Amino acid sequence: MKKFTKIMSLLLAGTMLLGAAGCGNAATEGENEGSAADSAAVTTVQEGKLIWGTNAAFEPYEYMEGDTVVGIDAEIADAIAAKLGLEAQVENMDFDAIVPAVTSGKVDIGIAGMTVDEKRLKNVNFSDTYVEAGQAIIVKEDSDIKSSADLNGKIVGVQRGTTGDEYVSDEANGVSVASVERYANGPDAAQSLLAGKIDAVVIDNEPAKKIVDNATGLVKLEENLTSEQYAIAVSKENTELLDAINGALKEMQESGELQAILDKYLNK
Ligand code: GLN
Repeated sequence: MKKFTKIMSLLLAGTMLLGAAGCGNAATEGENEGSAADSAAVTTVQEGKLIWGTNAAFEPYEYMEGDTVVGIDAEIADAIAAKLGLEAQVENMDFDAIVPAVTSGKVDIGIAGMTVDEKRLKNVNFSDTYVEAGQAIIVKEDSDIKSSADLNGKIVGVQRGTTGDEYVSDEANGVSVASVERYANGPDAAQSLLAGKIDAVVIDNEPAKKIVDNATGLVKLEENLTSEQYAIAVSKENTELLDAINGALKEMQESGELQAILDKYLNK
């Protein structure tokens, strides 16, 4: 079977080379088993492209390096696009604009360290999950806030429309904050914390580590407030794309490619 698929791949690569002379990455695409079949099956917003929406202020998942969006999700988007024979193109936007962009067909998918949650599932489908995450608390080094219980009565900053926002905004979660300050992104909330305008920031665990690393005088508390799974948001109308993405993610999981991407950004 393995041998058969290999031969098929070689044949496909040959066909693609013949069909697309001068197309630089035809040989690379041929190496991805089944890539030609997948790309034939999926329809995307712009033919030949996989447009992914994100908010590139969420290191290590997506952030700017010069003019380029880099990070775990950027590498996953590129790898999936390559497997589907498509060209990845990123659209950077506010986090709370991503699900609407998927439903309105502005982008094909949302990859943004996005947690699978009930509300979002009403509007989009989610792929299989690719990362386990959770919310964490960032405070100033000299803060008297030592755990989630100490958030009671405090002014807490979050990124607007995130699960961190939901967590501190709903007293059912066991916290009763004085007020929630909503920012466009985590680094903006951290600036406000450093400036003494708010008492704490609640944001996803790994971005919290990066924010603390990139600042002076901030610490991340050990406590994990939630248990969340990240997945890729796909339009409910494009189930072929959802299936193709799940197929690509599965291949990346089995080959170790996904773990290699995570290790590159998370364990340093
Ligand atoms: N995981 C959080 C959520 O889905 C935050 C994502 C983000 O800010 N990029 O709401």
